[in-house]
Amino acid sequence: ILKIGEGIMTNKITIIGAGSVGSTIAYTLAVNGIASEVVLIDVNTQKALGEAMDIRQATPFAAQTQVYAGSYSDAKDSNIVIVTSGIARKPGQSRIDLTQTNVNIIKSIAPEIVRYAPDAIYILVSNPVDILTYVFGKVSGLPTNRVIGSGTILDTARLRTRLAEYFSISQKNIHAYVLGEHGDSSFIPWSMASISSISLEDYRKSLVGDDDVLPELDVEEVEKYVRTSGGKIIGRKGATYYGIAASVCHICRCLFSSTDTILTVSSTMTGEYGLNGVALSVMSVVGSEGIKGNICAKLTDEEMVKLNHSADVLKDVIRQISI
Ligand code: NAD
Repeated sequence: ILKIGEGIMTNKITIIGAGSVGSTIAYTLAVNGIASEVVLIDVNTQKALGEAMDIRQATPFAAQTQVYAGSYSDAKDSNIVIVTSGIARKPGQSRIDLTQTNVNIIKSIAPEIVRYAPDAIYILVSNPVDILTYVFGKVSGLPTNRVIGSGTILDTARLRTRLAEYFSISQKNIHAYVLGEHGDSSFIPWSMASISSISLEDYRKSLVGDDDVLPELDVEEVEKYVRTSGGKIIGRKGATYYGIAASVCHICRCLFSSTDTILTVSSTMTGEYGLNGVALSVMSVVGSEGIKGNICAKLTDEEMVKLNHSADVLKDVIRQISI
């Protein structure tokens, strides 16, 4: 493999776990030219080698990205490390059931990878992502701004997809978020949802023509769509990977960008909304240093109850696991 010449800027990303999610992230990074170098690490070395070879053979038609399988020492000088290793959720299985197994995997990986990539920004994707973000932060000792969980970025993408379809408008005009746990206690702060700064209800009314009345948005149906999408996809095809891969690649783009972006990603709370000792998704400002800060946007009393409930659910799990 040709190495990129010295003095040339590189965007190096290491991905731990070359399963469905890890390899789809690697492919998406490569074809979009987001990374100049992608390293795949997996305990199943043949799988990592096979995926790297397959993706590398796509690069003549896309960006000139070096993609190869490696070991922890190959993660040296990575700008970003993405953790997707673990056991995927089986049909009908809750995310929480998987917790201790995936916590143990994270605990074994953390010292190895941080030894070789101490300055990288880490993106946790494996589930339960909020718990693993919290655990990785604890065991790695890295500053909280450099440990990011993909959190509800995927749920937010699902919400925007649904709203864009309903209102027949570009997803770019939809400003709406899913906060809290990436899981059953996630919630949509509807008070913050808008279409180009116009509340959803005002927008709907403004669309009313003589014979074309868009019915009132069924918020419960939308919440159900967002919460059950993952399970439905797993039930139908065994795993979810395109949505999460695109979401994680978007986080990487934002980390490589010179301007900051607001994303709903998971991070360990340091007093935001009065929360501590738990990682979950709020609106975060993401830029080249990782999480620049978390925004405590105004929530209604009802939304605050939901945020606190999400934190309590996650804290309850943290109490039950051995870190
Ligand atoms: P997968 O089984 O296809 O891949 C997991 C890979 O991890 C396997 O190749 C396995 O060999 C590897 N692995 C296991 N232990 C390892 C270790 N100690 N070191 C290195 N590699 C190791 O699963 P998948 O479908 O790719 O899902 C991966 C994870 O991502 C799961 O935890 C899944 O629940 C999660 N996920 C998260 C989101 C999200 O929104 N956060 C979305 C989809 C999937």
